[in-house]
Amino acid sequence: MPVTDAPRTLEIPAALLPADGRFGCGPSRVRDAQIEALVAVSRTVLGTSHRQRPVKALVGSVKQHLATLLGAPDGYEVVLGNGGSTAFWDAAAFGLIEHRSAHGTWGEFGSKFAKAARAPWLAAPAVTEAPAGSRADLEVVDDVDVYAWPHNETSTGVAAPVRRIAAPGALTVIDATSAAGGIAFDAAEADVYYFAPQKNLGSDGGLWAALVSPAAVERIERIAASDRYVPEFLSLGAALENSRLDQTLNTPALSTLVLLESQLQWMNEQGGLAWAAERAATSSGLLYDWAERVDYATPFVADPAHRSPVVVTIDFDGVDAAAIAKTLRANGVVDTEPYRKLGRNQLRIGTFASVDPADVAALIACIEHVVAATR
Ligand SMILES: *Cc1c(COP(=O)(O)O)cnc(C)c1O
Repeated sequence: MPVTDAPRTLEIPAALLPADGRFGCGPSRVRDAQIEALVAVSRTVLGTSHRQRPVKALVGSVKQHLATLLGAPDGYEVVLGNGGSTAFWDAAAFGLIEHRSAHGTWGEFGSKFAKAARAPWLAAPAVTEAPAGSRADLEVVDDVDVYAWPHNETSTGVAAPVRRIAAPGALTVIDATSAAGGIAFDAAEADVYYFAPQKNLGSDGGLWAALVSPAAVERIERIAASDRYVPEFLSLGAALENSRLDQTLNTPALSTLVLLESQLQWMNEQGGLAWAAERAATSSGLLYDWAERVDYATPFVADPAHRSPVVVTIDFDGVDAAAIAKTLRANGVVDTEPYRKLGRNQLRIGTFASVDPADVAALIACIEHVVAATR
């Protein structure tokens, strides 16, 4: 092979770089203090039984912090289980949907739950679709007992309000995987607000958590007591029983719980959900304002009211976004690539609570530097 000049990667001046270069939408940046929390319990919690006091106290503390952060109304409970949000979808098909569900789908994650609900023991779900980059409102459907949509559609950067569907007896079930801890909402407007901790909550994956209303508890217990076949691992009844004892059905990742507790404690100390939501809105606002200002970028989500404060998607025109992401990555600024299946000339940036708005300002300066050098 002939010897050619290796393609040189543009070096971004160190003065422009963010203090922390992780901008992923999940897994997302883990703060140093969380790692310190992990080290602090390396002999007392890690590697010890999840049926004994230290781990049960940790689970109890996570539950309490979550209830505080999310503003749990009286009677609401926090339920934990293994398997992440993807496992929760299957668990919901088995143990939360009674006859038929309705789904809002305007991206990858909303669609995945709708797909999981196409189970042989349920009637085919009612699906309200909207094109990627927008959203739609769900309407009341006669025989539906679960209404579901994502608080934040992570694949496109579209946020949707959490507002109870006025259908007596039906449950409002919200996928908050990338929203929980980054977008303010009224918990009384949902019956099930479920999520995994590797996004706004800056922990590792593998766990799901759900804030559930008394009506949801009643539903879970009723289906669990019925003759419907439910695999033990996906049993919400078993998850509820174990959570009440500060346990999970089977062994959880202890480090995930420790990282999560540390993050929740930090958020609650800083000012809770209002504070975290404000910080995310500041960060995302910097990006949206910038994308509207420059001639080579535009926010992908056309309606400002639909734009996510925690996942920012920006389309590029006349510049190769993939090349920008690649150069950023070579300089230690990572995970700005768009959601792969969206297939757009785009960057996607996580502006979760752990991200310092100053780092977002630095990221913008880095993008401008790369564009100026390559255009
Ligand atoms: C990441 C994500 C999921 C999937 O979470 P896992 O824990 O990987 O299963 C589901 N829904 C939304 C909105 C997400 O952002």
